[in-house]
Order: sequence, then C-alpha cells, then structure tokens
Amino acid sequence: MFNQDKIVIAIDGYSSCGKSTLARELAKELHYVFIDSGAMYRGVTLFAIQNNHIHNNDVDRGAIIRNLNKVELSFKLNSESKKPELFLNGVNVEAIIRTPKVAAYVSRVATIKEVREKLVREQRKMGSYGGIVMDGRDIGSVVFPEAELKFFVTAEINERVRRRFSELRDNGIETTKDEVKANLLERDRIDSTRMESPLIQVEDAIEIDNTKLSKTEQLEIALSLVEKKLATLA
Ligand code: C5P
Repeated sequence: MFNQDKIVIAIDGYSSCGKSTLARELAKELHYVFIDSGAMYRGVTLFAIQNNHIHNNDVDRGAIIRNLNKVELSFKLNSESKKPELFLNGVNVEAIIRTPKVAAYVSRVATIKEVREKLVREQRKMGSYGGIVMDGRDIGSVVFPEAELKFFVTAEINERVRRRFSELRDNGIETTKDEVKANLLERDRIDSTRMESPLIQVEDAIEIDNTKLSKTEQLEIALSLVEKKLATLA
C-alpha cells in the first residue's frame, strides 16, 4: 500500500497528548524511523542535573551551554519491547528521563537557544533521508518546515492528566494527579510562550483531537491521511 517515496511526518502538540504513541505506531506501520525529540531535551536536562548545573530550583544556563559538547545522545531499539530507548553518553537513561524530577526542569532547559540549536541539528540529520516520524513541539515549524505531512495533536487536559498519571503509576513512580496536572500546565505555558521556537500550530498542520479516540482509532485516522498524502505525491 505504501510503496511511494518515504516522506517526513511531523507531529506536534502539548504535553501528554499521545503524540509519541501515535508517532511510534505510525512509524511501525510504515516501516519508518521514529524519533521522540522530547526524549532528547529530557536527556540534556538529566545531564544538567547529574552535573549540578541544576540545583535548588536554579537552572545554570551558562554551565549547560559551556558543557553541551559533552552531551552525546543516541537512540537504540530495545529488542524485546521494540521501542527506541535514549542513551546519554553511552548509558541507557530511558527510565530516568521520564521521572518527575526531569519533567520539572525540562521545559526551562528547552528554552536555551544553544540547546535547541544542537538538538535541531541532530534531528535534521536523522531525517535527511526521509522515512521518519518525529514528534515534539517545533517539528513542523522549525525542524522540518518542509515536512510533507504535519499533525497537531490535542486532547482535553483532564484526559491528558489521567493518561500521564497512570503511565507514571505503571512505572512505579509515586505522584498525585494534582502534581501531574500542575507540571503539564506549567510545561505547556513555558513551551508556548518561550522566545526560541515556541509551540505553535502551523497553518498546514492537520489537527487531531484524540480526547475520545482509542489509540487504534487515532492511528487509523492518521494512516488514512498518510495514504491520501502519498497518493497525491505518486
Ligand atoms: O515530549 P515530551 O513531553 O517528552 O517533551 C519534554 C519537554 O521537552 C517539553 O515539555 C518541551 O519543553 C521540550 N521539547 C521541546 N521541543 C521539542 C520536544 C520537546 O521544547 N521538539
């Protein structure tokens, strides 16, 4: 069904909207590469925490910028789960980057221009041959403004809180729904008001509100839009 040239698919949206799930499943169906760009910002944040560039609620932007050349990020596929996992300087950090401590600081780290420049450069390299589905906040606007297909994923806040809370609980992380909600809203606020590539819905992005959709329904909608797009390119 999908024999045409491999395209770039950009998926953006607010925190915990199911962007990564959609991106991963789409990539699997299409035999494309999936990149969770948020994991990369989380990786830089973890590096900053581990190296005391973040302490007492203070993010030392200068120290992070000076030490950015020591941050090496890569993804490797977990052969059991078939999901890509993030490695920071050769160490698997997939679980730790999902903890509330990293979530608490990641949006502030993501406002740093030099951090964004480094990660955007790496993301563009990963997508240079097409055949990629990348999710994040600035993928359709900055990383791949020429992407053939762009989605903007949304969901109601209480549904997003419910999903993120149960995901954290399933991973054995103790938190409350109120804490999760406060973190999501704060990240959304910082992400959409920052100077450097703020989260926006670009004009050519197709909006998918998945509040009432199952994962399968969402995937089917997206796949049919991919099919339509590929037909126009054939
Ligand atoms: O996607 P995820 O929620 O894991 O992203 C974590 C954080 O990384 C976001 O809240 C945002 O601050 C930052 N981010 C970004 N640009 C991207 C992806 C993520 O600024 N493309």
